[in-house]
Amino acid sequence: MRRETMSNVDTPVVIIGAGPAGLTAARVLTKLDIDYMLLSREKVPGENKACAGFIPSGALRDFDISALPRAHPVTTVRMKFPRQDMRTVEFGARVGVNVSRANLGMTMLKHVGTGSGEIRLQTEVGHVAVKQSGCELTLHNQGQSEKLTAEIVIDASGVNPVSLKAVQLRERLPDHLMGYTAQYQMRRPSSMDALNGVNDFYYGSDFSPNGYAWVFPRGHIIAVGTGGLLRFFKEEKKRMFDYLDHLISNDTSAKATLENSEVIKRESALVPLAGVVQPSFTDRLMLAGDAAAQCCPMTGEGIHYSMIGGELAAETAAHAVEKRDYSAQFLSRYEKDWIKAIGSNLKWGRWLQKKMVESKSGGLGTSLMGSDRSCRIVAEMLVGARSARATLLAVAPTYMAKKLRR
Ligand SMILES: Cc1cc2nc3c(=O)[nH]c(=O)nc-3n(C[C@H](O)[C@H](O)[C@H](O)COP(=O)(O)OP(=O)(O)OC[C@H]3O[C@@H](n4cnc5c(N)ncnc54)[C@H](O)[C@@H]3O)c2cc1C
Repeated sequence: MRRETMSNVDTPVVIIGAGPAGLTAARVLTKLDIDYMLLSREKVPGENKACAGFIPSGALRDFDISALPRAHPVTTVRMKFPRQDMRTVEFGARVGVNVSRANLGMTMLKHVGTGSGEIRLQTEVGHVAVKQSGCELTLHNQGQSEKLTAEIVIDASGVNPVSLKAVQLRERLPDHLMGYTAQYQMRRPSSMDALNGVNDFYYGSDFSPNGYAWVFPRGHIIAVGTGGLLRFFKEEKKRMFDYLDHLISNDTSAKATLENSEVIKRESALVPLAGVVQPSFTDRLMLAGDAAAQCCPMTGEGIHYSMIGGELAAETAAHAVEKRDYSAQFLSRYEKDWIKAIGSNLKWGRWLQKKMVESKSGGLGTSLMGSDRSCRIVAEMLVGARSARATLLAVAPTYMAKKLRR
């Protein structure tokens, strides 16, 4: 039986955005039988999202999406650090999958199920106002505008959340906490499909402004990208696509993987690489996913984190609707919950990121790769199988013991 919410608003909960955060929030609210409306501007969720599309096995398991169609299992990681040969770590089993974001979006949309929610795609939220009496949103759909009211909003609209245009919750992330990425989607001849299953990471200033470049294949499509902190990108004044062109034309391993491949799409996007960013809520509003910077500052992996953020925001929203309490004080449990779940990884990921970018020679990374054992540990972190803190404890135990004692 649907719970009656008895109020003057159009819907108790609005979710903005049909990315991993918003779609997970919708799935949870459907399960809890809470009325909601999900609004998102794309026709096919994820179709315009620049992303390399790697999803760690933990996310597939935790969110019950193991049966993703057209998912390409990843079993091997290769890493190249400055002045070192390519290092290969074979896991011997699937550690995650590479997928297209449209494919992920459509699968997650099916998992939302039907019941208490209404999903409106191709609907852009232009403005969000939070008032004592409720939230007011302005929507744009195919040239038409309309108003919508809600008790509470989960803003999962990505790295620059739409609600922050009008709601004074926090400042936009500064350039030293924001990542900037450029990516080619490339198509290669099907005769090269045997090279699937291997995700490559390239570190060093030839390939990125203090971040890394990646080559992630999924069938005959390959995501070839580079990213780094926006601050370094602006300082270096080099075009991001120049790093990619250099990788494709000059690196032996990349050349072998991308032989006879053609660029079919160029894309660039921001990604939050900020660690734990607070606050993520105020009266009647919670930010989830990239909107709340729930993304690993070390790897830029955010799909799993966003699902966790979306799930926890929806659970808090459901409680708020039941109790009819939409105050910041009530919603503060959301922030406690997500920091408990992923805060340590974000915090230590940011710490490790700072160490890596401060070092002129790709240093910490290079020194971490000393042995086969440490190589494997770092590879496990890159595929989301090991937390940033556990990585540091394993590869630099003495240093970490000192740091933790301080
Ligand atoms: C180049 C690149 C590569 C990446 N590769 C990986 C990877 O391999 N693995 C990984 O885990 N993470 C990766 N990430 C990070 C990952 O893509 C994000 O962390 C993740 O998509 C965040 O999910 P989200 O639901 O918070 O936001 P998003 O996926 O950005 O979804 C936001 C949604 O909100 C909608 N929206 C935005 N504004 C409005 C509005 N005003 N009105 C209505 N709807 C709106 C959008 O259409 C979209 O549907 C990558 C990021 C980039 C930029």
